[in-house]
Formats: sequence, structure tokens, C-alpha cells
Amino acid sequence: MDTDSNKQNFIGTSETQLRERFTNWKPYRIHQIFNWVYHYGCRDFSKMTNLSKTMRAQLNDHFYFSTPRVENKTHSQDGSIKYLLKLDDGALIESVWMPSDSRKTLCISTQVGCRLNCSFCLTASLGLKRNLTAAEIIGQCMAINEDLSQDEAITNVVFMGMGEPLDNLGPVVDALRLMTAPEAMRMSTRKVTVSTSGLVDKINEFQKENIHINLAISLNATDDQTRDRLMPINKKYPIKALMDCLKNYPLKPQRRHTIEYVLLEGINDSIDDARRLAKWLKGIPCKINLIPFNSFTRSEYRPPADKKTLKFQDYLIGQNFSAFIRQNRATDILGACGQLAAESQKTSCV
Ligand code: SF4
Repeated sequence: MDTDSNKQNFIGTSETQLRERFTNWKPYRIHQIFNWVYHYGCRDFSKMTNLSKTMRAQLNDHFYFSTPRVENKTHSQDGSIKYLLKLDDGALIESVWMPSDSRKTLCISTQVGCRLNCSFCLTASLGLKRNLTAAEIIGQCMAINEDLSQDEAITNVVFMGMGEPLDNLGPVVDALRLMTAPEAMRMSTRKVTVSTSGLVDKINEFQKENIHINLAISLNATDDQTRDRLMPINKKYPIKALMDCLKNYPLKPQRRHTIEYVLLEGINDSIDDARRLAKWLKGIPCKINLIPFNSFTRSEYRPPADKKTLKFQDYLIGQNFSAFIRQNRATDILGACGQLAAESQKTSCV
């Protein structure tokens, strides 16, 4: 990797940036380069044989290639692999690859740490160190795909790792455009999901970008007092403001939002909660994922008993919602968001 300070990482560079740099190049030329890099995995401009020698030299003068490096990987009994990735400045992030019969999903990070301080989340304990660049966001998919076999290649991506994606909106949008562009990574917008804790202003900004990926809202409570405690961002964007925003969000036909609801014993798992949840979500096209909490050592929270989780689900189904119980993956290898990076930092600090 040549990281000459005058050069820019090609990974993550947008089509607009390339057109601005090479103003006399035809658009199809830029698509050809994207195709080499994102489809054929080429990391050497001199091998892009359908470009002229001059173009190849110009690319080489301005760009280098860098993706996150796999620092460590841990295999879970459920088949998932948790990757600890090192960035160029030495910062550590994590991504989790989760196979199922029909798909291979990668959960990626958008920030080093997070500043939103949700009380059930270990990433919050890191604070926000910095935002990831578009290169570091899509670079997670590229680095991990290179580590996997062809049969294991990533089919779906969820932005649910470390960080609040919409708190790093510009690079996330750039990464999404490259991920879903037919000349770049070619992922279907149906197979990409961005999760948010509910930054209403940013959701409104995001919808103007016209990228029709799936949105998952991490709700986790049905009254403001409880949500303020679990997710302090609720003080700025209370539940009603968030629900109004979702009601006005223009969805494509046959699409719906995902509502993520982490179940915490004695906090948000009662039938009254289920009742309030159904009331809030009335009129919002959505499916509900119920996620029994994945407890970690220093947490004050516990998951509810299975019976209680099933009762909560039954109530929602009785109200005609699609409600699913999602078990956390990779729990035997520190599977919850932020756990691996937080443990690594703890290790390096002592
Ligand atoms: S749950 Fe998400 S938004 Fe909340 S602190 Fe953790 S990473 Fe940040």
C-alpha cells in the first residue's frame, strides 16, 4: 500500500469526485474502473487493460488502495465469525459475518465507538473516537469477502455494528451509493439495512438522498421516561416525534421499516409495553424484531424469560403485526455490538 500523502484512497472515492478530478474522461471510463475494483477485486491500475496507458498512469499518480486489515477473527458455535479489523491509524473496529441457509449477512461499523450513550450498549463505554470514512465502511465488506470463500461471500449488509450510522451521514451515504451502484458493488437496495437510534433530523435528511435501502429503528421502549433512561437521544427526539417521522417517510411499494426492540427483563417487557408498542406502530408499515438482551458482565440488564418473550410476541401477532424473535448471534464470542473492540481496548489499557 502506497499512502503518499498527496494521494487519495481509491476505495470509497465517489463517481462525482472522480469526474471532478478527470473532467475530460467519459462517464463509462469511470464505470470501467469501478468494475475492475469492486467487481473483479483488482488493486493495481496497471492491470486495467481496457484503459489507456496514460489513464492508468494518471490513476496511479493520484490514488492508492487501502482496506481495513483483519487483526483477529473468532468463530462462534453458531457459524458466525467476528472480525476485529485494524484501520490505517491503528483504530480497531468490528464486523460480524452471520451465515444462514439463504443469506450471508455482514454487520458493519460506521464509527470508532459511539457518542449516543445507550445504557444497554457496550460500545457506548468507548465514547466516540472518530467517524469512519466511506472507504473504511465499504472496506469492511471488501476485506472480509477476501477472507471468505466464494460460497461464503456476503449477500446482505446491515449497518448495526459500532456507531450510529446517521451520526456519520456523509460517508455512510457515499458508502451506500458505492455498495448499491450497478457499476460498483452491485448490491440490491433490498439487501442493505441501516439501523438508527432515531435521529429524526438525520432521517429526514437521509430520505432526501433517495437511496431506498431498508431502515431499522432501534426503539426499545414505549414510554419516554423509560426510553430517556435507555437511550438518552430520546430527550432530543421523543417517541412521538420519531413515530411522526416514520409515518411521513416515503417508502417504495412492498417495503416496510424494521422496528428493533431489545427486551430487558422488568424494564420494557410487560404486556402493557406490548400494548403501547402496538398503539405507537399503528399505521406504520413495519415488521418488529424482538431481541432478548445479550447480557455482558458489567451490564445492569438481563433478558426476560423465554415465556415472557413469547407472550410479548403473541400479543403483537394478535394485533396483526409481523413480529419475530431474533436471537443474538455469536453470543459465545462477545457477539453484542462493541463487545470485542471494548474488550480489546481494555486488554491494551491494562
Ligand atoms: S446502541 Fe448503537 S446508538 Fe446506542 S450507543 Fe450503542 S452503538 Fe451507539
